[in-house]
Amino acid sequence: MDEPRLKLAIQKSGRLTDPSLDLLARCGLKISRGKDQLMAFGENMPLDVLFVRDDDIPDLVQEDVCDLGLVGLNVLEEKRLELAARGHPVRFQSLRTLDFGRCRLALAVPQEHPYEGAASLRGRRIATTYPYLLEQYLRERQVNAEIVTLSGAVEIAPRLGRADLICDLVSTGSTLQANHLREVETVLESHAVLIRTPLALAPLKGEWVERLMMRIDGVQQVRESKYIMLHAPRAALAEIRRLLPGSESPTIIPLEGSPDKVAVHAVCRENVFWETLERLKQAGASALLVLPVEKMLN
Ligand code: ATP
Ligand code: ZN
Repeated sequence: MDEPRLKLAIQKSGRLTDPSLDLLARCGLKISRGKDQLMAFGENMPLDVLFVRDDDIPDLVQEDVCDLGLVGLNVLEEKRLELAARGHPVRFQSLRTLDFGRCRLALAVPQEHPYEGAASLRGRRIATTYPYLLEQYLRERQVNAEIVTLSGAVEIAPRLGRADLICDLVSTGSTLQANHLREVETVLESHAVLIRTPLALAPLKGEWVERLMMRIDGVQQVRESKYIMLHAPRAALAEIRRLLPGSESPTIIPLEGSPDKVAVHAVCRENVFWETLERLKQAGASALLVLPVEKMLN
């Protein structure tokens, strides 16, 4: 019998597509994908990738059409509220927070408009593609405002006279600036999430989900981690260990012919900046070397 294959849904074309494919590649997945194809076959894992609109991902996973999905928390939370409002159970499960797709759902007002906290929203018209998240935000602050639900191009709604302000996704803020809008409140901090079906997986599929999650953890740790090597006088060891950023237990190696010196090797779980190297050098370290980490498994 053929091995059962996992189906993973990712965004077909948009901001999450490249980082999702990059994450899968770093997890060791090789896929063959023709242009415009809806599905790609995993050549070295029993896992196929389905390319869809990001808004469809929660439903596809919830309804067990796909076993896994990579989607923004913003889309997921909006869906969660929508399902609840319709009296439907929320059944998809979040497995991992991912380190890409960072953005925030924010309220923004026209640049010249004054804003003095949530009370300034009272009686206003707010344009958004996230009506449920916005409704929850307003309800929690006991503010009555009109929600104008649009399917896109939210940032031009104030200029068109369709709304007084907007609630939209922001990352750098350059789109807001280009539209003469000023960010005033954060409604939701977002990032990509790995979700799974509510149904039990066949044993082999379940094992692959576990392996995939372990590899994702490894990939995410590695992105920030560095391997640092240096020589240090034994007398300065305590100070040097204190300066090493985010490292647990460095390896200390004696140096042949230099009894008062040792080599220190450590994995640092954060980026190592020039300032840190300069401080280590001041503390007596020499022959400093910082290397990127390729893979990590804990
Ligand atoms: P689709 O055709 O798949 O529906 P879309 O227009 O909804 O595409 P994109 O603009 O590509 O989607 O955004 C996809 C996701 O990327 C968002 O839901 C959000 O989680 C994330 N994202 C990250 N940064 C931003 C940003 N600056 N603006 C909008 N979305 C962002
Ligand atoms: Zn979308």
